[in-house]
Amino acid sequence: MALRAGLLPAGFQGADISAETGEIMKSDFRITVFEGDGIGPEIMAPTLDVLKSVQGNGGEYSFSFETAPAGAAHYAKTGESLPSSSLEAARNSDAILLSAMGLPDVRYDDGTEISPQIELRKALNLYAGVRPVTVSPGATSPLTLPEGKKIDLVLIRESTEGLFYTQGRGEVSDAEARETLRITRDVSEKLFDFAFSLAAQRKSDGCSMGTVTCVDKANVFRAFAFFREIFYERAKRFPDIKAEHAYVDATALWMVQKPWEFDVLVTENMFGDILSDLGAGLMGGLGLAPSADIGDEQAVFQPCHGSAPDIAGMGIANPFAMILSAGMMLEWLGHRHENPRMIDDAKRLRTAVDAVLGENRYLTRDLGGNSDTNSCAEAVIAKLVA
Ligand code: NAD
Repeated sequence: MALRAGLLPAGFQGADISAETGEIMKSDFRITVFEGDGIGPEIMAPTLDVLKSVQGNGGEYSFSFETAPAGAAHYAKTGESLPSSSLEAARNSDAILLSAMGLPDVRYDDGTEISPQIELRKALNLYAGVRPVTVSPGATSPLTLPEGKKIDLVLIRESTEGLFYTQGRGEVSDAEARETLRITRDVSEKLFDFAFSLAAQRKSDGCSMGTVTCVDKANVFRAFAFFREIFYERAKRFPDIKAEHAYVDATALWMVQKPWEFDVLVTENMFGDILSDLGAGLMGGLGLAPSADIGDEQAVFQPCHGSAPDIAGMGIANPFAMILSAGMMLEWLGHRHENPRMIDDAKRLRTAVDAVLGENRYLTRDLGGNSDTNSCAEAVIAKLVA
């Protein structure tokens, strides 16, 4: 069984609402579900089955799932990509599960794609995009690691501003095109506090030495010098955690050459978008890369991959990244509501996925196997109920 650190910082925000108010601990959680486009519904349905089988164990908490429409197919049908009723449902729920959205052939008039997952991050202020990069036993990384080294890092991608700030509002004329990169003090401070808290959590779990690396391009852009300056200001609040910086181009090189040297990386939105796919490559593919987009009040859990239209409808999509993202949701809810059962179940779920991958029996085509989506998810359920 692999020893993995928690993927989210314990007690970072809003924790134990019940202890402060004296209310009975919350045990019924409303989850808004975005099934999304392409392979989205195919990986979401078995993930909900996995969650039902986890929650059934002990009866100490339960979920009610509410499906909300959004996405490219919904836009093609109705002209709306993210209906206000869906956004409201998300805002009022305890957590949000999202598969993947977007279809290359469905676009706005300006040529950009429908991407409500990005709108949600902005609307709900989900500034911390958490992208764990760990290699499960049995999963094949394209790298051969030196003896005793392992890949276990977490990339924190700022998810509400940066170069995505003018998304959909970029100015284009015949002669030129412009987008604006925006870095704010307010968001950066919260982002860095999150990254340092996560590093502290990982250090106390005994899974890392406790280092946060600010990934930027401060040698060229003033905005990134500002970003780095705030990083070191916030670092002073976490004296037990080592703070360092690296340029994004060098980081891309080192993630391939010596990924074991990284612990927590924190970076701007576009840099994080690109580096997280590099991270997924290190793990053996997008089908194994989970993520969480976390704000002060809300969080969305979704795999790093897209809607994979090339394999949609075939029943062969890899469900593991979606299932692992649901595990991150359990962990986040468990910390937020001080529910140790949920935190334990998150670990159980990760262990079950690791065990299935380690057996090399139920693997989808992208992992070199020939199992279908549902049999992989059923194999995880079998481990959970064993
Ligand atoms: P993609 O991630 O959908 O697919 C890239 C490749 O990986 C494809 O070959 C695909 O078959 C494979 N793949 C991805 N997920 C897989 C899985 N679970 N199992 C097996 N194979 C998998 O990226 P893309 O092709 O660049 O984008 C397709 C659509 O998804 C686009 O409309 C894009 O805008 C959208 N997209 C959405 C998100 C999101 O919702 N967060 C992220 C990226 C792309």
